[in-house]
Amino acid sequence: MKSYDVIILGAGAAGMFCAIEAGRRGRRVALIDHAKAPGEKIRISGGGRCNFTNLDIRPERFLSQNPRFARSALSRYTQHDFITRVDAAGIAWHEKTLGQLFCDGSAREIIAMLCMDMTEAGVDLMLGTSITDVSHGDGFTVQTSAGSLHAPKLVVATGGKSIPKMGATGFGYQLATQFGADLVETRPALVPLTFTSAQLDEMKPLAGLSVPASVRCGRIAFREGLLFTHRGLSGPSILQISSYWREGEAIEIDLAPDVDISAALAAEKQARGRQAVWGVLGAHLPEKLARQIVARAGLAGNLADQPKAKLKALAQDVSAWSVRPVGTEGYRTAEVTLGGVDTRGLDARTLESRTVPGLHFIGEVVDVTGWLGGYNFQWAWSSGWVAGQAV
Ligand code: FAD
Repeated sequence: MKSYDVIILGAGAAGMFCAIEAGRRGRRVALIDHAKAPGEKIRISGGGRCNFTNLDIRPERFLSQNPRFARSALSRYTQHDFITRVDAAGIAWHEKTLGQLFCDGSAREIIAMLCMDMTEAGVDLMLGTSITDVSHGDGFTVQTSAGSLHAPKLVVATGGKSIPKMGATGFGYQLATQFGADLVETRPALVPLTFTSAQLDEMKPLAGLSVPASVRCGRIAFREGLLFTHRGLSGPSILQISSYWREGEAIEIDLAPDVDISAALAAEKQARGRQAVWGVLGAHLPEKLARQIVARAGLAGNLADQPKAKLKALAQDVSAWSVRPVGTEGYRTAEVTLGGVDTRGLDARTLESRTVPGLHFIGEVVDVTGWLGGYNFQWAWSSGWVAGQAV
């Protein structure tokens, strides 16, 4: 049996970052992953450029049953700390939009930086290694395909259930249950929404079109791009709202949030009443979409022929289009998993279990889920760092 000070399960963003900090503090660290390469999600993130953090990290941009929980870790290891590390590694980056920072080159540069840091910190990285059993007595014993390991500290960083094709297993939740930790129900988040076949028939011909939109569900709204797809609706605004949407709820979409469509229709009716109705919408929306909205409203003839009430209803179809999703695309395409290990059972400063000393949960496996835009990686860095300081 090999002895370590810390065993970390999962060589994703959180696990690697924790391993580096613990190793730098002189701890003997084993980092185990069943995948052949570390940080596979980092590699595919941000379209291959990794949106590694956000300039405007705020605790209220994370969803959790305990919205205050993430505050401590996020303030102890901030986005600026991570940017300093990226700068020191000579990785060029840019702000794309809304404070979102991406590599200029490739996400692989972030993985290379983390691998270099792990080597310097003396981390024993065990890839392609499956975990067959975890037990707790005098410390933790982990049985693996590469033999038995023992350590007084165990960190669970096995992520959520999203993208099973890439090795996501839900193993962390199983371990949490084994150790008596409570779980907050999990569901796919940052995920495209799906619709009834009738609604889909309307959306399909628009597949590929993207518009800046404001998407609302209850009291929360996001103003970002919306994309029509063959399967329903996607794009940043839809992914964001999917984390808040629940079955049965409608979402309201403003397809032209910068324009008062009602006023535009009234003014054009006065000034150029002989034009086609779709032409007014077409000044603010892609033509295909404008034509479809007018056709759906059943408006024949030119603008001057339309009664005021019909134009008001048409404006409503653009500015407050109400759709009722029937579901999401699920874990197959979800960027993250909402819910997870209940934060009430964890110490916010160390991510250590309150009932099993020496056991930590970090990253996505915990019930802390960020907005789209670099928030989830920042949670992985911050939670990994604080646990790395504690073990
Ligand atoms: P993970 O990165 O999922 O790592 C978990 C590790 O545990 C994996 O290496 C896995 O192989 C290993 N593991 C799982 N089960 C076992 C097991 N049973 N035995 C051994 N090992 C196991 N977030 C952003 O902030 N910015 C982005 O640009 C961004 N883009 C994304 C794009 C996509 C397509 C996806 C799917 C997600 C994206 N995310 C992004 C979210 C982000 O990738 C995650 O929030 C983050 O990776 C979570 O880090 P983690 O270390 O907790 O888990």
